[in-house]
Amino acid sequence: MDHYTRSARTAFSGLILNRKPLRPVGDPAAGTTAATVREAYIVVRGDEVLFDTEQGEPLLLSPRILEGCAGIRLETMLLGDDGEISYHAVSFERLPEGTARCLSTLGDFLPLRPQASILPAHMTALLGYASSVAAWHNQTRYCSLCGHRTEPRPFSLAQTCTNPDCGMEHYPRINPAMIVLIHHEDERGERCLMGRQASWKPRVYSAVSGYVEPGESAEDAVLREVMEETGIAVTDIRYFCSQPWPFSSSLMLGFHARATSTEIRLNDAELQDARWFPRSEIPALLASGELVLPAAETISRHLFDAWFDGNLSRTP
Ligand SMILES: [Zn+2]
Repeated sequence: MDHYTRSARTAFSGLILNRKPLRPVGDPAAGTTAATVREAYIVVRGDEVLFDTEQGEPLLLSPRILEGCAGIRLETMLLGDDGEISYHAVSFERLPEGTARCLSTLGDFLPLRPQASILPAHMTALLGYASSVAAWHNQTRYCSLCGHRTEPRPFSLAQTCTNPDCGMEHYPRINPAMIVLIHHEDERGERCLMGRQASWKPRVYSAVSGYVEPGESAEDAVLREVMEETGIAVTDIRYFCSQPWPFSSSLMLGFHARATSTEIRLNDAELQDARWFPRSEIPALLASGELVLPAAETISRHLFDAWFDGNLSRTP
């Protein structure tokens, strides 16, 4: 399996949209070659999306419904089109109060993350994309250079500073993070290293992760974070796949790595616990509930499954 296929199998990824969208019919700048595209608006509030809970589907609002609530031109972020529908993200937090109240009567806000195991993969990916962009739109209300208000730049995924003397363009921020499943083999057999944070559900253990810092490659971050969090030295770092993670606008870069030491030291107290899990004992630990693996939508679970099933990346 190639890296693209592996990544496309993770939740929130594999979305194919034309991100240089067609202009809607009626726009004088559309020209004569633009195809007819309908428009749909996805309303995001924090990590939640506006749903039609009776249908069990996200509400893809038409401009007509939106205008019925807004009565004014809204600030929305254009995501792209699939040839038929042009999708826009709406940050609920940036709506005028009356508009927000009106929109919230159209459906119910549901947390996005559980939808990854319910909705079709392409819809999960679309909502994840909308969620990341809406969060950035909400958090980027003012120019970081001069402090004036920002506004969406039409037909692009950018905001522009409204100060004519500045005009700085702002683009969505993505935070690169590495996540690594560490493995080790000796005469006692194969085992993998996973840790847990105090805030997680009980007995959930996951691969080690952390943000890539300035001046680091993703592999540098693997070496540093693993040493800081677990005291384990690693080598043979191999890229596996990546995943866009909408809840912190992260791009998760997934690796496997082989440990060259085995004594665990929780150096920076980031983890509440870290343990070696022998492959031979894992089925019983799972059956007893002593170990709970990360949820299926996480790249951590994909890294674990690949190791457990003997499908580590062999790419040099
Ligand atoms: Zn500015």
